[in-house]
Amino acid sequence: MALSETGTNHFKNYIAGEWIEGDSQVENINPSDTRDVVGLAVRSGGADLDRAIDAAHDAAPGWARSTPQQRYDILDAVGNEIIARKDELGRLLSREEGKTLAEGIGEVVRAGQVFKFFAGEAVRLPGERLDSIRPGVEVDMRREPMGVIGMITPWNFPIAIPAWKIAPALAYGNAVVLKPAELVPGSAWALAEILSRSGLPEGVFNLVAGRGSELGPRMIENPKVRAISFTGSVPTGRGIAAACGEHLKKVQLEMGGKNPLVVLDDADLDVAVGAALNGAFFSTGQRCTASSRLVVSEGIHDRFVSALTEKLRTLVVGDALDPKTQMGPVVDEKQLEQDLSYVEIAGQEGGKLAIGGERLTLEKPGFYMAPALFTETSNDMRINREEVFGPVASVIRVKDYEEALHVANDTSFGLSSGICTTSLKYASDFKQKSEAGMVMVNLPTAGVDYNVPFGGTKGSSFGSREQGRYAVEFYTTVKTAYTQP
Ligand code: NAD
Repeated sequence: MALSETGTNHFKNYIAGEWIEGDSQVENINPSDTRDVVGLAVRSGGADLDRAIDAAHDAAPGWARSTPQQRYDILDAVGNEIIARKDELGRLLSREEGKTLAEGIGEVVRAGQVFKFFAGEAVRLPGERLDSIRPGVEVDMRREPMGVIGMITPWNFPIAIPAWKIAPALAYGNAVVLKPAELVPGSAWALAEILSRSGLPEGVFNLVAGRGSELGPRMIENPKVRAISFTGSVPTGRGIAAACGEHLKKVQLEMGGKNPLVVLDDADLDVAVGAALNGAFFSTGQRCTASSRLVVSEGIHDRFVSALTEKLRTLVVGDALDPKTQMGPVVDEKQLEQDLSYVEIAGQEGGKLAIGGERLTLEKPGFYMAPALFTETSNDMRINREEVFGPVASVIRVKDYEEALHVANDTSFGLSSGICTTSLKYASDFKQKSEAGMVMVNLPTAGVDYNVPFGGTKGSSFGSREQGRYAVEFYTTVKTAYTQP
């Protein structure tokens, strides 16, 4: 099915190898130009979800018996097609989500790389053998597929997050039911369309679009679904964890962040400002790994604030598809209102607005906002404790490294953290003592590799890690087999 790059597409469900209409339709609106309808997306109720789960359940045993070579061939070909079509898919992604075209294309390439990585993992699935404690007995430990995996994904990485869940699930022999975020049905549809032509047996991969609050609980309650992989906000994740506990279902949650970027007096100023600009404002700050807390020591504070403010003054905000744009719009009206409300809250709490923070009216009607930087904030303010999920960052002034480390760790989240320093001593100490799942030295807190684990600590993550070889933990179960030859 061809994708229209400028017209309105029709995004359907993919269930049991067929393209299916839903109960109703919703418009998928371009946040850079609200007159542009990217697509009409189906919205399904529980009956379609049940059919998808039945199809996955029926297909799972056959796929579990497929050979590693079959899985490799399919996943590698899917990865190759995604990468070959990066410009077209990147355009769709940026058109529906609002990140810049360069970011959209980058995300698409990453999705392709994830598929190719897990193609390789399919042919090197590890097992283990031990000598039994009993004479003459052999013990081996093998990894087996879980069965049907339910996936619930957010809107901010519309193709990469589905990819990094689907690819390992398929590589390790599972069947999949994906429920993508309502705001970005197009990228999930495009991925499903590629998978539908990949040679996967019918029912192994299914896509069902609809309301999370309706389909999510129904997916968790269905006994045919053996595990749930979720990425999204903390409140939704908490509810999912509780429901999965009730139904004794394996669950993996990747949630929000309030990620600190520490800047010490001995930092290279350009490196620090570059890391802050990228980490806090690229992708319009809509990244779980965004550097929303800039923890800056006294000696460099004023130089850092003035250099970052200058960068923000000239940052080009505009249509995501315009090559000149450096920061696209916020994803929708609701998120924009949330971002603006935090600007107000930070001001009321005593933060000083250094720049930005207002809604922008540009040539095209869209959800545009000037990137906001607050100074003179303290770590107990709401702006530093709650995830905003927009282009809003705040500076917390600290005395020295010890105070910076304390502030960085004083949060209920623990996804990513960073430090800018030329001191090996502080860099090493921070890597050891930072209470985050991912630590960056002289790099933005956002922007990670696809071949290593991704995930956090404390309120940011729950369950085993995603991505890299560590994904095997979630998508397989271990069987211990004893043999008396
Ligand atoms: P969200 O929690 O509102 O929605 C996420 C998904 O959950 C959507 O598909 C939604 O339809 C579904 N959902 C909604 N209610 C549900 C329910 N009751 N039961 C089951 N599913 C339900 O999050 P969002 O606004 O789409 O995404 C933004 C959030 O995602 C931010 O908090 C961000 O930090 C987080 N995020 C985390 C990571 C990570 O890997 N840690 C990556 C990207 C985004």
